[in-house]
Amino acid sequence: MAAIHLSSPVTDLYGIGPSAEEKLARLDIYTVYDLISFIPWRYDDWSNVGTISSFDMADRFADNAGYDLSFRGTVSTNPSVNVTSRKKPLSFFVSDGTGRIKLTFFNSPYLSGKFALGDECFVHGSVTLFNGQMQMVNPYIEKAEKIEDSALVRPVYHLTSGLTSNNISKWVRTALKLCGDELLSCIPVSIAEQKGFVLPKQAYEMAHFPSSLEEARRAREQLAYEELILLGIGMKLYSSGHGVKEIAEQVIPSGQDGIGIDSRNRWKVIKSNLGFALTEDQAAAFRDVQTDLMSTTPMNRLIQGDVGSGKTMVAALSMLITALMGKQAVLLAPTSVLATQHYKTISNLMRNSGMEPVLLLGKTKASEKTEIKEKIEDGSARVIIGTHALLTDDIKFNDLALVIADEQHRFGVKQREKLLFKDTLKDGTVKSVHNLVMTATPIPRTLAMVIYGDMATSVIRQKPKGRQEITTWFVNSKKSKAIEEMMSIKLDAGEQVYIVCAKIDTDEAEAGADNMVGDPVTDDSSVTSVFEMKKIVDSMSNLSKYPSAVLYGSMKEKDKLDTMEKFISGDIRILISTTVIEVGVDNPNANVMIIMDADRFGLSTLHQLRGRIGRGDKKSFCLLVSESRSELALSRMKMMCESSDGFELAEKDLELRGPGDFYGTRQHGIPTLRAANLYTDMKIATEATEAVNRIIEEGGEEADRLNDAIRKMFELRFARKMEQI
Ligand code: ADP
Ligand code: MG
Repeated sequence: MAAIHLSSPVTDLYGIGPSAEEKLARLDIYTVYDLISFIPWRYDDWSNVGTISSFDMADRFADNAGYDLSFRGTVSTNPSVNVTSRKKPLSFFVSDGTGRIKLTFFNSPYLSGKFALGDECFVHGSVTLFNGQMQMVNPYIEKAEKIEDSALVRPVYHLTSGLTSNNISKWVRTALKLCGDELLSCIPVSIAEQKGFVLPKQAYEMAHFPSSLEEARRAREQLAYEELILLGIGMKLYSSGHGVKEIAEQVIPSGQDGIGIDSRNRWKVIKSNLGFALTEDQAAAFRDVQTDLMSTTPMNRLIQGDVGSGKTMVAALSMLITALMGKQAVLLAPTSVLATQHYKTISNLMRNSGMEPVLLLGKTKASEKTEIKEKIEDGSARVIIGTHALLTDDIKFNDLALVIADEQHRFGVKQREKLLFKDTLKDGTVKSVHNLVMTATPIPRTLAMVIYGDMATSVIRQKPKGRQEITTWFVNSKKSKAIEEMMSIKLDAGEQVYIVCAKIDTDEAEAGADNMVGDPVTDDSSVTSVFEMKKIVDSMSNLSKYPSAVLYGSMKEKDKLDTMEKFISGDIRILISTTVIEVGVDNPNANVMIIMDADRFGLSTLHQLRGRIGRGDKKSFCLLVSESRSELALSRMKMMCESSDGFELAEKDLELRGPGDFYGTRQHGIPTLRAANLYTDMKIATEATEAVNRIIEEGGEEADRLNDAIRKMFELRFARKMEQI
């Protein structure tokens, strides 16, 4: 067998076959290193050993719930197997000198013959009362001599169905034994000494197999430190280009004179096509962009604005002014639905200006594509809108000056690099385009600093005038009449409705599972799928009279666009979809959104979804439907009902997610973090990256070591994943 390295596929490990491979992939685990860095999200502490008699029955069982107990005892009745029926449970008593408990095991053939009368054992489980007798059903049991202290702090992993924490533990143990020594430390020696950090291999051992909760906590701190260094420094090294002088075209001449009367007149036409005045924040953001376009330093600007705040308008105006100055501007959208929508908005804005935009999608007909490419190459097309289909090498721009990416974090890192269209000139300077990025995902400042470095930001906080506040209600039962009534009222009034579901089909995990938060996804069967919802709607007499349709990510592009178009034109009145509508879809006549199993989504996603309504002048309602009783889920629902401020919700979201931030990071365009918490560990992030930066700038042996280690570990940890984002 070939030697196993950190970068080897998990299937190289003994015991991981195609079925486990597939399940691990769902957890974003592909390589041995992914497995090792998949640290537990919490621990069960079984080390607190009690006695049976310490259970005060009357008191403890008042509410008939189970109570956890760890104890050591002796098998006191014969655990004989029932030979007539293997289906029958195996039962026996264990006593600890203070009392006895009946243990009952269902479906546990592997236990038959393992324990005998008189065996000393360790037991952990939930004690319940059955016919007035204490019992444990399917508890954990092990021979006392086999139990080490380290087995008593039990790691609990975020899991997907079909995998157990035990599976993960076993594989991690093997992985660490085989290649734990390949793990390089990315933490400066001086910091490691000061903090009492251990070797990476040991830190992972402590995280996966801690002998105490305190040890697990120390391990997590060290791994968080390392993870944040990898992210902050590695990201920069990865997209390198440091210290090189970059220049871009000056798009807008500094003096008024350079603009020309013709352009001025066209600009007037465009402004009047706009039909409304920009909000103050929009105007300020547009001014920022104009100032940047007057410089030969490439613009590197992020426009952050809540959904519906009017970012697209700012982008559109920036493109048009670039086009008026005779240069080309590109707007890239992550999906064809969005690109098409932007195209329409911008076409409308360009009416009678003597210019026309072009739209290029992956599915654009070949003949049409050729024509568009020609126009792009000869410069007659100056306002260019499309998806990543625009990033192929056969597209030659004539005089590209501005590139705008909508929801850029939805593009892969390689694509993001391409977006900058860098070109090294003979004298070594790099020619770049002006780069503008729009995002509706509010990024806490400190985090933005780590991810985007020196990117300038313009924030649009105000909403356009005339917007109504959206009323959000929490509905705690899927059967509630309120859902149907709300839809009927609005549909009868000629308005439209979104219904969002957390999965597509009964047995299909939704692709947007990264949006899910909270407890490990164990039971999905209660989640209402898009198709189930469609059936429900069709079966309700007062809803089925309105045309409805489904929409989800894996549908054919053409069908998706068709459906969207029909929804926007009003031919479809009820749109039942997954989170694909999260970004950009704009239908001012849709004023109700029902989010089924709302507990399955993070706050940011919920907010993003809700931003699809409240776009017209009618009163809008968002109903969050969830039957979850989890405290975390309920607090998220409460936040949603109370706040409509995306920035506030984003901060809260990070806070509520807790350590590990298993699902949240993708929204920010960075891969899942495993040890660090973006909210609570920000101080560490700044401290760590500053320290490493200082050392690397000084140079020397330690700088070389860190550079090398960070590059290698970043490659393993993030690089491949970045391309998938
Ligand atoms: P975002 O991209 O930030 O989600 P959009 O640019 O799509 O927001 O704008 C949302 C809606 O608001 C669009 O229908 C747009 O026409 C409208 N809009 C944008 N700016 C204004 C404004 N200043 N006044 C009135 N309506 C506006
Ligand atoms: Mg938008």
